[in-house]
Amino acid sequence: MLTRFAPSPTGYLHLGHVVNAIHVWGIARARGARVLLRVEDHDRIRSRPEYERALLEDLDWLGFAPDAGRQPIVRQSDRDTIYAAALERLRRTHHVYACDCSRKTIGGERYAGRCRSRSLDESAPHTLRVQFDPGVERFTDSRLGDIVQNPSEQCGDLAIRDRDGQWTYQFAVVVDDIDQQITLVIRGEDLLSSTGRQIRLARMLGRTEPPRFLHHPLLVGPTGDKLSKSAADTGVRELRAAGVSAADVIGRAAAASRLIHAPCPIPAAEVARLFV
Ligand SMILES: [Zn+2]
Repeated sequence: MLTRFAPSPTGYLHLGHVVNAIHVWGIARARGARVLLRVEDHDRIRSRPEYERALLEDLDWLGFAPDAGRQPIVRQSDRDTIYAAALERLRRTHHVYACDCSRKTIGGERYAGRCRSRSLDESAPHTLRVQFDPGVERFTDSRLGDIVQNPSEQCGDLAIRDRDGQWTYQFAVVVDDIDQQITLVIRGEDLLSSTGRQIRLARMLGRTEPPRFLHHPLLVGPTGDKLSKSAADTGVRELRAAGVSAADVIGRAAAASRLIHAPCPIPAAEVARLFV
């Protein structure tokens, strides 16, 4: 089994990332899976090399090490050829088209297919979409059980490249998971609604067996509410600068996501204990 830790270098490592790392490394160690690192910098405007350096440094300090090492670093910004090849593969068997609708015209999350009859005009700036036919996707989340989603109702025809020429998160992550042969995806509950559409897209790209999924709880405050943005955004380097140890940072994140009742120090090497 192969899983991945895939941060976006659009800011510093915070407690939300630590919760994800605890689940990724903890579950991987408990089940004998290996962990790959992937830098999800598909957003070329918000991603910065200094954030990437800081994320990797903070991850090292915490003690979470990818199994294959990190050289060369797998970065979405270096994988244009791989995404272009996947787009070609998709175009051979499915309807991919150019859409010039504005956000305002679409008016919500679901795109109803207004430009479906258009050809694939490569000359003008536009969003590339792939047609999603009606039908449900069923999958079993290792924590939440059986889930049914209907991508064509939820999001409609999926955007795979935006009008600035950037590959979308949904497309890049599916292509990467196929290319890196990821068989176990461990991520926060906030991404649960994306899973059906990603399974659909992966199948359209030729993946017969989808990865297994586990969506973990996000940070919660003492009253059980979702932790305030500022608390969830507490930077690992701020805590480190304040003299908090790596094991204490991991313990705080584990408590804030209800893996343990009260914070106590947990070294990175021992996170598997939380999942056995
Ligand atoms: Zn359109």
